[in-house]
Amino acid sequence: MSLDDLRAEVADGCRVLAARNLAPGFLGHISVRIDEYRLLVRCRGRNERGLAYTTAGDVRLVDTEGRPGERGELDGYTVPFELPLHTAVLRHRADVDVVVHAHPRDVVIADLAGLPILPIVGAYDIPGAVLAAGGVPVFPRSALISTTDLGAAVAATLADRPVVVMRGHGLTSTGSSIAEAVLRAQAVATLADLSLRIVAAGGEPTPIGPEELDALPDLGVALNTETAWRHELARLAEPGLVPLAIAEVTG
Ligand SMILES: [Zn+2]
Repeated sequence: MSLDDLRAEVADGCRVLAARNLAPGFLGHISVRIDEYRLLVRCRGRNERGLAYTTAGDVRLVDTEGRPGERGELDGYTVPFELPLHTAVLRHRADVDVVVHAHPRDVVIADLAGLPILPIVGAYDIPGAVLAAGGVPVFPRSALISTTDLGAAVAATLADRPVVVMRGHGLTSTGSSIAEAVLRAQAVATLADLSLRIVAAGGEPTPIGPEELDALPDLGVALNTETAWRHELARLAEPGLVPLAIAEVTG
């Protein structure tokens, strides 16, 4: 895939995060590993308007120190304060090519309410159940991840898992593709939302049993990731979910 196609895909991912209410306000970013020293990352331009309005032009090539990855890449743009979060996770996880960082409100509330991300549903969302069953660690600090040490600390908490919840902050999700990383973030946010609603309805979020988990089939990447992603992109074109001007810009 060309660099420009990847920029467009990162922009799509940012807009899906916003359309799914995973990035309220204008905070959050997605990065993609390009090579050992460089990554594409959603940056902030002079006319920053938030993730819902991300275009391919907001996605810039930078090195791991936050310098332009090619001449002119950061003209008019600044890298996220939390770039060290992205570079640390990419450095610690050779199996990861995409890092998503967002501030989903339900994830923050559920964690602060003492509700862990658990496999409380089965066929409702099989990839989400499997993800939760493997464990979703919690980084216990609410700091802005703006230093190498803090980035390394989050990466250490993430360890070999796909997603880490960040207390009083949001979450960081990983994947081998933009679709996978965004959909994983969405799965965790859905479980947080369900947990909060169960408590509000007077119940207690309870994990399904191991035999129920074992019985869940793997429906495959074609459905779980590819079809799910086409659905997310199709939703973006719905009036009211994304401004018409942006839909036109990005096709
Ligand atoms: Zn953040």
